[in-house]
Amino acid sequence: MIGGAGSDPGRTGTAVACRGAVELLGLGVTELEALAESLGEPRYRGRQIARWLYGHGVDAVGAMTDLPRAFRERLQASSRITYPRLRRVQDAPDGSATKYLVELADGQRVECVLMRFDDGRRSACLSSQVGCAMGCAFCATGLSGFSRNLGPGEILGQALVIRAHAGVRIGNVVFMGMGEPLANYDAVLRAARLLALPSGFGIGMRRLTISTVGLVPQIRRLAAERLQLTLAVSLHAPTDALRDRLVPANHRYPLAELIPACRAYAAATNRRITFEYVLLAGVNDSPAEARALAALLRGMHCHLNLIPVNPVAGTPFRRPEVSAVMAFAALVRRAGFPVTVRIERGTEIQAACGQLRLADGQGRPSRWTPSPVATP
Ligand code: SAH
Ligand code: SF4
Repeated sequence: MIGGAGSDPGRTGTAVACRGAVELLGLGVTELEALAESLGEPRYRGRQIARWLYGHGVDAVGAMTDLPRAFRERLQASSRITYPRLRRVQDAPDGSATKYLVELADGQRVECVLMRFDDGRRSACLSSQVGCAMGCAFCATGLSGFSRNLGPGEILGQALVIRAHAGVRIGNVVFMGMGEPLANYDAVLRAARLLALPSGFGIGMRRLTISTVGLVPQIRRLAAERLQLTLAVSLHAPTDALRDRLVPANHRYPLAELIPACRAYAAATNRRITFEYVLLAGVNDSPAEARALAALLRGMHCHLNLIPVNPVAGTPFRRPEVSAVMAFAALVRRAGFPVTVRIERGTEIQAACGQLRLADGQGRPSRWTPSPVATP
C-alpha cells in the first residue's frame, strides 16, 4: 500500500512556521521546565508539556488542555512543533513490517520502519542522518552519499509518526535506518534519552539499540556514559583485507582497534554486544571466514546476527544459498557464540537500509570492485 499525498497524519495543524520560534520536539524535560519558567510559569509545566509531546504525541500546543489558556497562547506564539511529514507508506504483504518515507522541514527525506513480531513486540527502526558518508559497498544508503545529520526532534519525530500512523505501542527502537548513528552522537543520544522518558515512550535503555559501523572513539565515549543501551557493531568481515573493501571505515578504525573497543564496551556496561554480519555470497560466507570470525571474537560476551544481504540495485552482491547461511551459522555456534539469522522483514518493500529512498531516484553506483582478495 502506498500512501497518497493526502495521507498526512503527522502534520495536522502544525504548518504555522513561526520565525525564531523554539522547536519543542527534541527538547528534554529540563529544557521544557526552563522554557516554562522563562514564560512566567512554574517549572512543573515543563513536565506537562513533555508528557503531551512524547506521551500523547500531540502536534499542537492548543491540544495541551491542562495548561492554562493564557500560557498556551504565550507558548504557541513562541514555539513550534514540527513533525516529519509522511510521504509514503508501504506494507509488507505478510504484514511483518511497514515502511515509511518521511519528509523533513527542509524537504530532505528519510526512511523509518515499523517491525511487527509474532510474539506481539513492535520495534521501530529509525534513521539518524540523511544519507551516510561511510560508503559501505552493499548498502543503499551508502550509495546515496551524505547530506546532513538529523536533529534529535527529527529522529524522535519518526517514532512519533510511526506511533500515530500505526496506533501501536513501540516496545523497542533500533537505530538501524539511514545513517551512522555514532557520527551524529549528540542528537542520537538525546533522542535515546527522550525515548526512555517514562512519561513519553517509556522505552528502557536496554530496549534501545544503536548500530554502528565501528567508530572507535565514539564507542569508547559511549562506554564511559555507562548507559544500558544495546550496542550493535556491523562487522561483516573477520579480516582487515576483506573488511577494508566492504566497509571503508575500516581503514580508519581497523579490527585491531575496533575489537578491543568492543571488549571495553562490554566490560564497562556489562552488556552483551551484538555483531552484525551481512552475508554476501562468495565474498564473506565461506567456512574459513566463519572460523576466522569465531577466532576474532573469542572470549567476548557477544551475540552474532547473520543477515543474508538484501541485494541493492547497482551492486553485484547476492544472497547466499540457505545451506551456506546455515553452515556458517552452525560453525560460529559450535565455537560457542549465540547466533541468530535475521528473519527478513519487508524484503518485498525494500526495507533494507536506504532502499526506498534509492528507489526514489537518489543514488550512485557501488564503489565495490570484485578484485580477487585472498581470504583466510
Ligand atoms: N550505519 C549503521 C546503522 C545503519 S545500517 C551501521 O552500519 O551499523 C543497519 C544495518 O543494516 C547494518 O548492519 C548494515 O550493514 C545493514 N545493511 C546495510 N545494507 C544492507 C543490505 N543491503 N542488506 C542487508 N543488510 C544491510
Ligand atoms: Fe552507512 Fe551503515 Fe550503510 Fe555503512 S551500512 S553506508 S555505515 S548506513
